[in-house]
Amino acid sequence: MFWYWDSTYIILIPAILLSIYAQSKIQSTYNRFKNVRSIKNFTGYEAAQKLLLKNGINDVSIQVTGGMLTDHYDPRKKVLRLSNDIYYGTSVASLGVAAHEVGHAIQHAKGYMPLKIRNILVPVASFGSKFSWILLFLGLIVGNETFVTFGIYLFTGIVLFQILTLPVEFNASSRAVYELAETGIIIDEEKTSVKKVLNAAALTYVAATLMSVLQLLRLLALTGRFRDRD
Ligand SMILES: [Zn+2]
Repeated sequence: MFWYWDSTYIILIPAILLSIYAQSKIQSTYNRFKNVRSIKNFTGYEAAQKLLLKNGINDVSIQVTGGMLTDHYDPRKKVLRLSNDIYYGTSVASLGVAAHEVGHAIQHAKGYMPLKIRNILVPVASFGSKFSWILLFLGLIVGNETFVTFGIYLFTGIVLFQILTLPVEFNASSRAVYELAETGIIIDEEKTSVKKVLNAAALTYVAATLMSVLQLLRLLALTGRFRDRD
């Protein structure tokens, strides 16, 4: 019954370590740069507004939202939601995060292909994250191979989604640095600081992707063992 506590857990260790490292890295980097005021003193909101305008995007609204680092772009409602610290903040961290989210709005407006494919996979991934484990668990307990196979397919959908998230995130960050410098919202000397913040954020995505890839490998190891039993 406790199949999920077995030795295949070892497979996950690199991803667990990377996740812990990525979490502490984003925390420390963000805490450091949220206190570094940008020279031109724009707020995250002002920066986002300028960058949207510069890119000819006038159908995206900017809202302030609760929580910490909850910033995101909602492509369905065409809303850029920035958390308090980012919206009102004038630090290089605030500008970097705000511009990164604008980067997603630009990707959306320009029909950036990895984002399009990723958006198609959203329902698959959310369905998969709800049901893959249930199917796998039931399949292994009652010994139904169809459940197990279908569970693995669903989980593979999640993994593909995670992998496609990486180019989308890296691209949004490189757009952010470019756009901020291009519009003079940050000066050249501030580019490195913005990059550090965005790279630390990207590392959490890398860790999450590694985790899902290794989870898949672990599932294959587990179900292989299950099949050998028959
Ligand atoms: Zn992003």
